[in-house]
Amino acid sequence: MCGIIGYSGNNQAERYLIDGLRRLEYRGYDSSGIAVASSSGTLQIKKSKGRLSVLEEQIANSEAINGTVGIGHTRWATHGEPNDANAHPHIGQQKKIAIVHNGIIENYLEIKNYLINKGIVFNSETDTEVVAQLLEYYYAKNSDIMAALYKVLSRIRGAYALGVLCSDHPDKIIAARKDAPLLVGYGEDCNFIASDITALLEHTRTVSYMNDNEIAVITSDCVKFYDMDQQEIEKRQKAVKELAKH
Ligand code: GLU
Repeated sequence: MCGIIGYSGNNQAERYLIDGLRRLEYRGYDSSGIAVASSSGTLQIKKSKGRLSVLEEQIANSEAINGTVGIGHTRWATHGEPNDANAHPHIGQQKKIAIVHNGIIENYLEIKNYLINKGIVFNSETDTEVVAQLLEYYYAKNSDIMAALYKVLSRIRGAYALGVLCSDHPDKIIAARKDAPLLVGYGEDCNFIASDITALLEHTRTVSYMNDNEIAVITSDCVKFYDMDQQEIEKRQKAVKELAKH
């Protein structure tokens, strides 16, 4: 299980994502990647096998990534070898959904076969891609991203910390967790998700730890939490000095 970072703010997201991933490098990883939503709703994806410096080089050699909301990942492969295609983020066929995931989706094969039968073409060998494809598949039915996410969560089994971008909601990161660490950080004119507080310490000292089966919706100026019944829940904010007790 490796690293997740997400940023929603008023500055260009790329720098925050790469910086957060650099701070998660100590955990070890085999590939890395980022997705940034442009304000017009295009999901820009960069990912590659190898060190973070390889990803940075790829970014430096391509068109500028514009957007103030994004997610990033360092991968430790469990399903599918470390290569560019298997690196996260993973996207749905219509490029409307991008996902980063820590953990393992145990029933991914059954879901993958279900989606292949519906005509969906997969681009990786990962368990994670089924989450992106299934979410997009459900989202296409009624354009309700939260309803689609709840359907996905009720169908997948396993461990996950998930960061989700949807091209129709370029201001938001949606996060969900079960049996894998994930927290929300509250910054100045920005908010974050991260798998590990280390990724955020430069930007914020105030966090909320997500519990299993909680969902968070994060924008630059608002964070809301929900339970599995789609009811909004209140979460305590903790100061970093309390972290040792967590
Ligand atoms: N199971 C996923 C994969 O193999 C996520 C691995 C991770 O937690 O980094 O891509």
